[in-house]
Amino acid sequence: MAGQERTVAQLALAALFGPRKDAAEPDAVSVAAPAGPELPAPVPLMRFLTVGHAVVEVHTHRFTTRYTCQGRPYADPANPREVEGFRWKCGGCGATGETDGSSGPRFDYGRYLPEERDQVRADANAHATVCRAMAPTALG
Ligand SMILES: [Zn+2]
Repeated sequence: MAGQERTVAQLALAALFGPRKDAAEPDAVSVAAPAGPELPAPVPLMRFLTVGHAVVEVHTHRFTTRYTCQGRPYADPANPREVEGFRWKCGGCGATGETDGSSGPRFDYGRYLPEERDQVRADANAHATVCRAMAPTALG
């Protein structure tokens, strides 16, 4: 019995301090990580600092639109197309192109067409210029 107890204690120590098992596990984790449910945070296309030091971020956004390649106001309801457009959001007050953008994107759920890159930059920058909301604290 005493021999079995020692063996259990040795196994526990080996599990805690054994270098071979620890060395093998990180490889398995790093290989499995990209397939896991947690995806890396998307990288913003542009960032603007507000007066209150919050950040307004512009991201690419894929959506289906009925506007043609000519852009607003040319629409073809019979032929919707999928585009890689943009949207922005203020990290301080939560404003978006839907609440504080130019008239076209504002009435299109805050979505900007690929041809409206200058417009999304101007709207996000204009909001950052006047927004006085502060960045949320780490405590929430
Ligand atoms: Zn804001």
